[in-house]
Amino acid sequence: MTYVYRFGGGVSDGGKGDKNLLGGKGANLAEMASIGLPVPPGFTISTEMCTRYYEEGEQFPQELRDEVAAGIAHIEAVTEKRFGDPANPLLVSVRSGARVSMPGMMDTVLNLGLNDDTVEGLAKAADDERFAWDSYRRFIQMYADVVLELDHGAFEEALEIAKEDNGFTLDTEMSAADWKALVAQYKALVEEQWGKPFPQDVHDQLWGAVGAVFGSWQSERAKVYRRLNDIPANWGTAVNVQAMVFGNMGDTSATGVAFTRDPSKGDRAYYGEFLINAQGEDVVAGIRTPQYLTKAAREEAGAKPASMEEAMPEVYRELAAVFDQLETHYRDMQDIEFTVEQAKLWMLQTRSGKRTAKAALKIAVDMANEGLITREEAIARVDPAALDQLLHPTLDPEAKRDVLTKGLPASPGAASGKVVFDADTAEKRAAAGESVILVRVETSPEDIHGMHAAKGILTARGGMTSHAAVVARGMGRPCVSGAGSLAISAKDKVLRCAGREVREGDTLTIDGASGEVMVGEVATVQPELAGDFGTLMEWADAVRRLKVRANAETPLDCKTAREFGAEGVGLCRTEHMFFEADRITAVRQMILASDEQGRRVALDRLLPEQRSDFTAIFEVMAGLPVTVRLLDPPLHEFLPHEEAEFAEVAQAAGLDIDTLKRRANELHEFNPMLGHRGCRLGVTYPEIYEMQARAIFEAAIDVAEKSGEAPIPEVMIPLVATRRELELMKAVVDKAAKLVFAERGREVDYLVGTMIELPRAALKAGEIAEVGEFFSFGTNDLTQTTLGVSRDDAARFLSTYVEQGIYAKDPFVSLDVEGVGELVSLAAERGRATRGDIKLGICGEHGGDPASIAFCEQVGLDYVSASPYRVPIARLAAAQAAL
Ligand code: PEP
Ligand code: MG
Repeated sequence: MTYVYRFGGGVSDGGKGDKNLLGGKGANLAEMASIGLPVPPGFTISTEMCTRYYEEGEQFPQELRDEVAAGIAHIEAVTEKRFGDPANPLLVSVRSGARVSMPGMMDTVLNLGLNDDTVEGLAKAADDERFAWDSYRRFIQMYADVVLELDHGAFEEALEIAKEDNGFTLDTEMSAADWKALVAQYKALVEEQWGKPFPQDVHDQLWGAVGAVFGSWQSERAKVYRRLNDIPANWGTAVNVQAMVFGNMGDTSATGVAFTRDPSKGDRAYYGEFLINAQGEDVVAGIRTPQYLTKAAREEAGAKPASMEEAMPEVYRELAAVFDQLETHYRDMQDIEFTVEQAKLWMLQTRSGKRTAKAALKIAVDMANEGLITREEAIARVDPAALDQLLHPTLDPEAKRDVLTKGLPASPGAASGKVVFDADTAEKRAAAGESVILVRVETSPEDIHGMHAAKGILTARGGMTSHAAVVARGMGRPCVSGAGSLAISAKDKVLRCAGREVREGDTLTIDGASGEVMVGEVATVQPELAGDFGTLMEWADAVRRLKVRANAETPLDCKTAREFGAEGVGLCRTEHMFFEADRITAVRQMILASDEQGRRVALDRLLPEQRSDFTAIFEVMAGLPVTVRLLDPPLHEFLPHEEAEFAEVAQAAGLDIDTLKRRANELHEFNPMLGHRGCRLGVTYPEIYEMQARAIFEAAIDVAEKSGEAPIPEVMIPLVATRRELELMKAVVDKAAKLVFAERGREVDYLVGTMIELPRAALKAGEIAEVGEFFSFGTNDLTQTTLGVSRDDAARFLSTYVEQGIYAKDPFVSLDVEGVGELVSLAAERGRATRGDIKLGICGEHGGDPASIAFCEQVGLDYVSASPYRVPIARLAAAQAAL
């Protein structure tokens, strides 16, 4: 067969390697069947069919109809039931399944194959009329909702009214006759809303569901999810059709979801939830509160209802053995769905479980230590970008907390922000720069954009495997779910709890590690960097070739960077030092001076300040290279604006305000990014660079004398386009070095090099390397100048460019390897041809981006430099690039 792949009953047409073709769910069902696990028989319609379906104007070819008939025959043969047979009916589930799990797509239709005749057959076969009619009403409701896309509110309302009329509060109180009456109402509702009777032909039902699965691939929600997660539209989804097994056939039946390890903390313990006498959707929907899987988890939570281990000890033991078999087979933590039908265990799904960064780290390190995977695999398993979650602060245990309530610790991390009650508002306020906490009764795929925009998520309903919990963990957002004491009114934008009110815009703090919800903002502390984190970093350091440095210009940043494992400073932007309040007047005096002599007066004031800046940094970085970039910024950034600022400078410089204003006017530029900045400043006013170089060497000698360990200054000239510029500037630096060394009777090693931030510099790198002893690729400017896109204005249109596929990712975030990357590799090559041992690094933002780091490895740079918090990310990414 071309499009249909069978599984179960001793047959497996596919396996776990077929994810692209069968989707994750289909591939793993086939794999589980092939290793002898109890999987209800079924078949998968491949993703290729989805693509063809769209190519051919949403039609099913005859070929597919024939193959599906063969697939149904397979299920019939294994189950000894017949699809549409009133005497012995086969019921199936229909589920979507893309290569990666994708909320936002049609999920599941259960009990398909029921109609007015087969429901009677089911009642007889199960010897349970109530169960049969309950299944039928569930089927109509689900089918109406996900396939026919009718208003599901009306169906829920009909159920509520039926219960109210009978004086019932629970579904379980409904009798067979009650369900039967509701079925009649549901069918009437379908006819009323859809204009046609509910399909009685089981084959029509099946094709309707298959069409709905394919259709949901192009739903708005699925498109949003694909965009947020870089999933190509042409992957398509597979469809899984599988014999139904029932978790709702009485007290020896159950359904559940489980992880083979704790997906939140990573501990080696079975972890999950189940419900007795329920169908799959009941667990994730958060309607009934699920029970714990293990006795230990139940006891730890202080919960009463028996765990599965206690309620169904035999099936539990069988399930635990399956968990172990799956983990060994897949060599990864698995996320599992199962059903118990009258004490018989069935596996419905397995996949690599989503996990928090903390859990990913712990599981990778543990599995390597257990011998299940190699250290290299452990390194490869942790997403460097996800480390971000671990490096950021958690709540200060000493800080005062005004605890409002407690929910489930669904996704770790602490977040404070203004409360909002809907996803659109979350998105809007976050776009305006506010930190927001999205508060919902429960979340659904429609909330994804708001969850993405929010700093944290809080829900009143739903367990650890609820939509909110699963999605938040995947996104790395802190989340507290199931905070049952919250009364939330999204309409009135208020939540009430313990006699208090929190309105939209009020601040809440959530702690996703403890489940606490606090009023107001709570102070945070730095994370612990030892333990599993330290272990994985050590392993990463052992395999990586690229060195990792930090972009830092304060002693504090340098300290953080060193703690995070930085092996030097790759970029110290000296202009940041010039903005300090106590020296800005002197800086302005320097800029506004009309001649060299005026500038020197101001520079003399700045020299001691600069020297102490460098001393502080060199002390922290003793023994390591520190790349100090001489002054770069557009001059106008320093100009005074306010009258008082002019007055202050006038007094300091002994000039009148009008002269100063005239001079400021003269300095106005139309395009400052391409104006009088970088080495152009040094070329026109060499005394500025002379002062900075002197400060660097004096500080280096001071530190060497004091601590006995000299830093290794690498003096970097910015925005060079030509060899001659660098030659002139190097002469200024060398002269300052010579003078200081003579004065102090002591020398330190140093290098003079340049940034490569202009296309001309990249092209003429061969010549420039005759002078420069190192290159550092300033890929922020190099991207700006190569693409001709202003780095400060790009945000307005770049997202459209990415949506249109013009650039795969924002080129200021992830290096445009094809374009800017070609200049980088060409410059590296030409630089090396001139100077074999030239040191090459990158210090643009891309130095902390894993994909860009992989490129740097490929080009053979010596180091990457990233902001302090991204140093660990860079270390891991560099290791992955080297594997
Ligand atoms: C760069 O241009 O990449 C760079 C690191 O310098 P800056 O961001 O300071 O312009
Ligand atoms: Mg730059």
